[in-house]
Amino acid sequence: MEVQLAVIGGGPGGYAAAFLAADLGMRVAIVDAEPRLGGVCLLRGCIPSKALLHAAKTMAEVEQLAEWGVSFGSPAIDLDVMRARKQKVVSTLTGGLAQLAKRRKVQVIRARAMFGDSQTLRLEAVGDSPLEDDRLRFEHCILASGSSPTKIPAVDLPTDRLMNSTTALELPDVPDSLLIVGGGYIGLEMGTVYAALGSRVSVVEMTDGLLPGVDRNLVKPLAKKLGADFEAIWLDTKVTAAADKGDAVEVTFQGETKQGTERFDRVLVAVGRRPNSSGLGLENTRVEIDANGFVQTDARQRTADEHILAIGDVAGEPMLAHKAAHQGKVAVAGLAGEPVEFAPLAIPAVVFTDPEIAWAGLTETQAKVEERTVELSQFPWAASGRAQAVGRTEGLTKWLVEPETGRLLGCGIVGHGAGELIGEAVVAIERGATVGDLAEAIHPHPTLGETLGAAAEVYLGRATDLYKPKRNR
Ligand code: FAD
Repeated sequence: MEVQLAVIGGGPGGYAAAFLAADLGMRVAIVDAEPRLGGVCLLRGCIPSKALLHAAKTMAEVEQLAEWGVSFGSPAIDLDVMRARKQKVVSTLTGGLAQLAKRRKVQVIRARAMFGDSQTLRLEAVGDSPLEDDRLRFEHCILASGSSPTKIPAVDLPTDRLMNSTTALELPDVPDSLLIVGGGYIGLEMGTVYAALGSRVSVVEMTDGLLPGVDRNLVKPLAKKLGADFEAIWLDTKVTAAADKGDAVEVTFQGETKQGTERFDRVLVAVGRRPNSSGLGLENTRVEIDANGFVQTDARQRTADEHILAIGDVAGEPMLAHKAAHQGKVAVAGLAGEPVEFAPLAIPAVVFTDPEIAWAGLTETQAKVEERTVELSQFPWAASGRAQAVGRTEGLTKWLVEPETGRLLGCGIVGHGAGELIGEAVVAIERGATVGDLAEAIHPHPTLGETLGAAAEVYLGRATDLYKPKRNR
């Protein structure tokens, strides 16, 4: 079998690339070991986690209505129905992808692929799906093999009480006590779900704060809320051992805020992800990988092998679905001869906790590391009519501004629905907008989106809802 473009991996990077290639007239095949398209994001990542978070957030909102004098009593949770609802969301979307592939005549092959050489994939059947041919020749191949959860040797036990994000999303039960190892976004999102369902959730994080790398003033309101919702948050603390005690996992801690052992019904390890770059036969090609296992590419996603490109999680940080999809489109447009490069000014990132945290472009943390001089302009949500109306005043919207030009370099938001607001900031930063542009654009009232315009007005000393006189500039 021979195609113009073979794509390894049917995740958001792989299918975005394959579909665009087909739209541009290429003969395309996607090879994935999974029976359904969608990759980690759709099958065991972004989408199932957000389906469960939706239930968790709605429960929290209903509880909050007590402040308005409306009470509903304790929720009755049917885990079977919840699992089925989540599966329905996933099935609808994977079914949609299968249809889209079919209509575009993209061939979907269920197999494990490895490179025989720079223009041949060896295919190995998976499950009971027979293979027409165990070789696939190609002009170009896009590697979109994604990533897998990192394990920690100290906590690697043969017990299903130990979970990773995939098994945690299956909702095996609602454990009375749950330890989450790792205070990154995946751990905190899953912790939010399990805490809403009734688990006593504890988090242990090796560094001195939750969400390492994220600006501290964005993390603060979330840390406060989680401090109330979770049983415990142990910072500066490591898990040094774990033992299967049959009816529980006994975990040993060593650190500033926790020492000794404690038993948990379940333990979720969420300490990061590593690129899927081994076992692919890359040694039979000229593709190069770095010390962390990421495939090295140029700005058009080309590897050191002229026939092979790489995108998404396997091609480097940040490991996010929308970055994977964007790189997929750049890779294909480049193959089609278009003058493209993957050189974004703003890749948005969202932590879908409650409150949410979202940022795009330059962050304060990054500016400090790079010793860049920036000006900061922030609007606290306590001054927003909408935030007051919905009882969510803990939020903050901030812009990072280039002092000489007023150009918007970065944006950070913490607050209810922050993930839905960051899109405007992405467009503004990508298009080189200034604080003046944002302040002059009429934002609808009363919305939380208004805080983006208001934060720009603060910079200019013209904010209506906040008294912040113009600084001398
Ligand atoms: P993947 O989606 O990982 O897909 C790779 C595919 O390649 C897989 O289907 C795999 O079966 C296949 N494959 C690998 N090797 C082979 C082989 N040798 N042969 C055949 N097939 C192979 N990102 C966000 O942007 N927003 C979120 O809210 C978000 N939430 C997440 C929540 C969780 C719990 C997790 C785990 C991840 C989340 N992510 C989120 C990250 C997101 O899922 C990934 O960034 C994204 O899926 C990467 O896409 P990809 O196309 O690079 O690869």
